[in-house]
Amino acid sequence: MADLSLKHIYKVYPNGTKAVNDFNMQINDKEFIVFVGPSGCGKSTTLRMIAGLEDITAGELKIGGEVVNGLEPKDRDIAMVFQNYALYPHMTIYENIAFGLRMRKMPKDEIDKKVKEAAEILGITDYLKRKPKEMSGGQRQRVALGRAIVRDPKVMLLDEPLSNLDAKLRTQMRSEIVKLHRKLQTTFIYVTHDQTEAMTMGTRIVVMKDGFIKQVDTPKNLYKYPANKFVAGFIGTPQMNFFEGTLKKDGDVVHIEFKNSDAKITVPYSMLMKTTPAYLDGTKPVCIGFRPEDISLDPEKIEKAHATIKVKVSHTEELGTETLVYGDINMQGNGFDDTGTRIIIKSEGFDEYAADQICDAALNIADIHLFDAETEESILPRIPEFNYIDCSVKGRAISALDVDIALPPAIVCAEGSGELLIPPVAVTFDGDIPATVVEQEDINGQNLVTLDVNGKRLYALSDGVLAEKEQKIALDFKRLTIKTGGKEVAPMPEINGLDGTFAMERVSEPVTKDGKTKNKKVAKYYILMDGVKFPAPDDIANKMFAALSGRKVFNTQFRYELPPDGLAIADEGISAEVKAYLDYGRDKYIQCAVGEENIYVRCDKEYSGTVKLYPDLEKVSVIEKDRGIRILKFIYFSL
Ligand code: ADP
Repeated sequence: MADLSLKHIYKVYPNGTKAVNDFNMQINDKEFIVFVGPSGCGKSTTLRMIAGLEDITAGELKIGGEVVNGLEPKDRDIAMVFQNYALYPHMTIYENIAFGLRMRKMPKDEIDKKVKEAAEILGITDYLKRKPKEMSGGQRQRVALGRAIVRDPKVMLLDEPLSNLDAKLRTQMRSEIVKLHRKLQTTFIYVTHDQTEAMTMGTRIVVMKDGFIKQVDTPKNLYKYPANKFVAGFIGTPQMNFFEGTLKKDGDVVHIEFKNSDAKITVPYSMLMKTTPAYLDGTKPVCIGFRPEDISLDPEKIEKAHATIKVKVSHTEELGTETLVYGDINMQGNGFDDTGTRIIIKSEGFDEYAADQICDAALNIADIHLFDAETEESILPRIPEFNYIDCSVKGRAISALDVDIALPPAIVCAEGSGELLIPPVAVTFDGDIPATVVEQEDINGQNLVTLDVNGKRLYALSDGVLAEKEQKIALDFKRLTIKTGGKEVAPMPEINGLDGTFAMERVSEPVTKDGKTKNKKVAKYYILMDGVKFPAPDDIANKMFAALSGRKVFNTQFRYELPPDGLAIADEGISAEVKAYLDYGRDKYIQCAVGEENIYVRCDKEYSGTVKLYPDLEKVSVIEKDRGIRILKFIYFSL
C-alpha cells in the first residue's frame, strides 16, 4: 500500500520564509495527485519534503502507514523525476536507466530485464545505446521516467517534468504519463504551474497559493465549486468574469446589483439559499462570478433566462468552434481593460457582433459564484454555513418552520420576531419535528440532506445516507444564533483555549537491569496550562520535540485548545471560577473563568464557586504561538 498521510506539515526555511503552512491531506493508494499553483506557492517544497530532500519543520508524514519524517530519501521507497532530466551525459541511455539498480547491487540479468521492460513501456527500446545528447527533450524525459520506474517505487514524484518541452510534445507526454500511471498502478504526485496540465492529469488536484492549500478536489469539482476566488480564477480559460456588487434579500427574491454599472437582476431566493446570510442585507460588498460559458447571447436562452443584463460589445475573438465576445456591463466601459465591469462571453457559432453594439445577455444563475469581496472565500458554499429561518419568541417558546419549540433553560433571548441561524450540523435526526428528505448529496465524504419542513427548505448533515424519507428532527440549541427583539444570542464556543508551556523534570526512579535495581534519573515531560503541570503522553512530547528541537521547546509559548468534553471537573487541576450553568436540554455545561479566558466544560451537575479542571490530553490541540504553527490537532468530529 502506498497511501500517504500529511498532517499539519509546515516548512519554515532558515531565512524565515514560511514556504508551507499547515498542509493536510490524505492521499490514497494509486491516486494521481497534482499540486498546482503560481510560482513560489510551495509546491516543490512540499514534494521535496515527501521525497526527504527537505526537512519537515513540523507535522507528520506517513507513507504506507509508516512515519517517515526521519527517514533518508533512499529508504522511503519513492522515485522522483525532475524538470531537468539529470541524466549522466557520459553514460548510454541503458546505463542511465540501470544506474540506480547497479548501485543497489541488483543482479545483472535482473537489471537487464527491468531496463528492457521500462524501455518498452516508454517506447525508447531503439535508443538504449545512444548518449543523452543524441536524444530529443521528450526522449530524455522518457529516460528520466525510465530511471524512476525500474525501481518499482511505492510513490512516483514528478516535479514539472514537462516544462522544458514545447507545447505539442507537452500535450503528447501528458497523455503518456497518464497512461504510465494506469500501467504502473502506483501513487503519482505531480507538480505543475499549468492549470490545463493539472485538470487533464489529476484524479485530484491540490491548488496552492502563498504556502497554503486553497482547495483539494477533483477537476470537475474545482471547476464547478471553487471554494474561493483564487481557485475560481485559476481554473478555466478564459478566466471567470468577476464583478463587484451587493445582494439584498427581499422576501422570496434576492436583488443583485452590479457596481459601476446599471445592471440589476432579481432572482428567486430559492436559487441562492446556500448563501451565507450576512451578505444578504444589501450593504456588504461581494464578488459575483460567472464563467464565460454561463453567459449567453442566444435569443432562445435570453427568453427563458431568470436574469439578463445589458452588455456593450467591444471586440470578438473567433476560435473556430466558438467566439469569445468581449464587452462591458458599464455602458461607458471599453471592454479591453479588466476594470471590474469587463465581461467575456463564450458564444457558440459564428454570429457577428459589431463594436459598440448593445446586447442582452442571459446569466445562468444556477452556476453563479459568490465570494466575500475581501477574504475572497465562497459565500455560496456547497455545504451552507447556515439555514436562515424567520422566527418569533414568546415566553419560553420559539416559533420557527411553523413549529413551536420549547427553549432550553440555557437560552435567554428577547421576545419578538427575528431570525434563526441554524448551521446544518445543528439539525439532528433524533427529535420530534416531522421532516421529509428531498435530496441527499455526498460532498467530499459528508452527506448533505435537503429537508422539507412544513414547506420550508432546511439543510442538514447526516452520518451516512438516510434510508427513510420521513424523519423526525430536532435543533441543537447550543449551536444556534438567535436574533430576536433587536438582541442576539450567540452559539456556545466549540473550542476552549488556554496559554501555557512545555517542561521537563528529571526524577529519580528505580530501574532494573541485569537483575539489579538502581535509582536512575529519568526525564519526564509535562504540559503546563495556566501554570498547572500535567504529564505529557509520549506522542505529544515527541511531536513537540520534532517541531522545536533541543531546549527551544522549553522556552516557547503554546496555545492549548480543548473541546468542552476535553476538560473534566476533578480534585486537582486548573482553578476555574464557575460563572453559569448552561442546560441545553440533552447537553449541559458549566461556563467558567480561568484568568481572562472564558472556558466551557461539559458536565451534568450544577457547580458553583471554584472548581478544578483536568484536561484529557488525548483531545488537545497544540499551537506554537510565535510562528503560528499547529503542532498537533485533535480532530473534533461534531456529528
Ligand atoms: P513552487 O514550487 O510553488 O514554485 P517553492 O516550493 O519552490 O515554490 O518555494 C516556496 C517558497 O519558499 C518561495 O517563496 C521560495 O522563494 C522559498 N524557498 C524555496 N527554497 C528555499 C530555500 N532553500 N531557502 C529559502 N527559501 C526558499
